[in-house]
Amino acid sequence: MYIDTHAHIQDEQLIGEVKDVIQRAKSNNVQKIICSSWNIPSSKQAVELSNKYSEVFATVGVHPENCDEYNDNTEGELTLLANNKKVVAIGEIGLDYHYTKENKELQKKIFVNQIILADKLGLPIVIHTRDAIGDTMQIIRENKQYLRHGGVFHCFNASKPVLDEIIKLGFYVSYGGATTFTNARELKDLVAYTPVDRILTETDCPYLAPVPYRGTRNEPKNIDLIIKNIAVLKNIDLIELEKIIQRNTEQIYKI
Ligand SMILES: [Zn+2]
Repeated sequence: MYIDTHAHIQDEQLIGEVKDVIQRAKSNNVQKIICSSWNIPSSKQAVELSNKYSEVFATVGVHPENCDEYNDNTEGELTLLANNKKVVAIGEIGLDYHYTKENKELQKKIFVNQIILADKLGLPIVIHTRDAIGDTMQIIRENKQYLRHGGVFHCFNASKPVLDEIIKLGFYVSYGGATTFTNARELKDLVAYTPVDRILTETDCPYLAPVPYRGTRNEPKNIDLIIKNIAVLKNIDLIELEKIIQRNTEQIYKI
C-alpha cells in the first residue's frame, strides 16, 4: 500500500473531480490520502472529504501565508474540526519567509499557538518551513514540551546537521516530487542520508509533480514515482520500503 501523506485534494484544481482523483489513486495502489489544509475553509473541506471517503484523512491548520486570516475564533474552529476522528494532525503550520518577511513576528506567534493547540488536542503537527529553517528550529527547541505527539517536516529540504537534530527530536520527514528532479543533487543526497524509519512520502498535489510529469497538475496517484525514486536513492527493495513507509505513517498519524 502506498500512502500520500500530504495532498491538497480540496484545491480548486482538483476538487471538481475529486472522486476520480481518489479512484485513480486507488487503482495505482494508493490506499490512504491525508488531505492537508492551509486555512479554515480548506480545513472544513478536508474534514468533509474525510467523512465522505474512507481513504481520506485530514489535517487542519493555518499555513503561515494565511496568517492574516488567524483571529480570535480560529483556535475554537480548529478545535471543533479536530474533534472529528479522521483528523490526524494540526497542519500545515510553520514559517514561510520566501514571499513575505514583513510579518515574521505574527507568523511565529501563530505557529507557536498552533503547536500548543496540537498538544492540547493530543495531535502531531505538520510543519511547512521555507527560507526560515533557523527560526523554525528555534521555535521547535523552545517548545519541546508541547511536542510530545511529534510531527513531520513536510517537503523536507535542509542541511544534514538540521536533519540530525530533527531526527534526534523524534520528528519524521516527508519527501515529495522535488526529490525526483534531475538537478536536485543535494536533496537526493539528503534522502540517501535520512534513516529509512523516519521517511514519509507525499505528493503535495496539485503542486510539485514528480518527473516525468514535472510542471503539470499533480495527483496522489503519482506517489509511486516518488517512492520508487527513494528506493533507488536508498538502495532498498521497493516492497520493503513500501512496508516501512506504511509503518512510519501509522506510527506518527495513528492511521
Ligand atoms: Zn502543502
